[in-house]
Amino acid sequence: MKAIAVFPASREVKLIEQVEPVITQPDQVKLRMPDVGICGTDKEICTFVYGTPPADSDYLVIGHEALGEVVEIGAAVTHLAPGDLVVPTVRRPCPHTGCRSCRAGHQDFCETGDFTERGIKGTHGYLAEFVVDGAQYMNLVPPHLREIAVLVEPLTIAEKAEHQLYGLMQRRPPWTDPAVSERTQGHGRKALVLGAGPVGLLGAMALRTAEFETFVYSREQEPDPRIAVTREIGATYLSSQTLPTDQLETRIGPIDLVYEAVGHSLLALEVLHALGPNGIYVLTGVPGLQTLIEADPAALFREMVLKNQMVLGTVNAGPQAFEAAISDLAIFYQRWPHAMLALMANRIPIEQAAERILERPAGIKSVISFQL
Ligand SMILES: [Zn+2]
Ligand SMILES: [Zn+2]
Repeated sequence: MKAIAVFPASREVKLIEQVEPVITQPDQVKLRMPDVGICGTDKEICTFVYGTPPADSDYLVIGHEALGEVVEIGAAVTHLAPGDLVVPTVRRPCPHTGCRSCRAGHQDFCETGDFTERGIKGTHGYLAEFVVDGAQYMNLVPPHLREIAVLVEPLTIAEKAEHQLYGLMQRRPPWTDPAVSERTQGHGRKALVLGAGPVGLLGAMALRTAEFETFVYSREQEPDPRIAVTREIGATYLSSQTLPTDQLETRIGPIDLVYEAVGHSLLALEVLHALGPNGIYVLTGVPGLQTLIEADPAALFREMVLKNQMVLGTVNAGPQAFEAAISDLAIFYQRWPHAMLALMANRIPIEQAAERILERPAGIKSVISFQL
């Protein structure tokens, strides 16, 4: 069967032939993989700055934003059946008995760093025709989401962040209102999303759904499909080409929440200065190697203290975030069908994947498809 693999030692990305996997444990499922999404992490792995092959392999099969169709189940699997659509979680627990997070099923909060991640760290990923995996890591997706289900994994980033920050917000006086449900948490509040890639735009959709007045700040200028999606979901697009970061506060007013989805440290730092009183700043981008910048930490920390501000870093996601992402994706699809399909505009056949993985997609999200 076909798979896309990265060979770090010889610095190659290529289509390989692998032996089709078989179920060896009663709690496993075998999946056929119709669609696998490509994100910045995959691009970093394919430029050899990130990613670790399994210990016994000189290559890593990539792909972690996956949609699978169950083709076979192990004898002990009762909650899934052939034909079901599933999205797998990415991270697998570390082996240490002392890791409270992993032992409690919250490996996205692993304390030791010895977790594995399918397609990223220590285990092969999903960019293969067939995959065998533990049934407990599968999240069932309704059939009507088939076309867009590959967006579940990038949406879990926002879902995990929102779940934490809504808990925090309810304990912070300006936002304390027992009448406000999680669904309307953003009512009367302003959120700024940094970056108009899939993680940013899906985050913006989640924030709009929670009734935040939402702004998306990115480098694109008209015409651009990212700007069109921003408008369709009722958010306001601001281009960094025409509005410098030091004018964000004047343009928007006090910003209650920043959702950073770029991974650019200078931008993240500059926008931190624009955060409003009692604001929360969520960092999801992972900055790569960037030039050193000068900063004035005293001014920054002074502001943060005097304004009761909070910075929250968040990575990966647990089963609860996957569940929330699947139900939110159904809401988004009903509310903004055109925008959801626009996110998916670039489908690449598996035969061209190795050559085209690094291209900037004509649409917004590159998806590798096994049947085109
Ligand atoms: Zn990803
Ligand atoms: Zn752990």
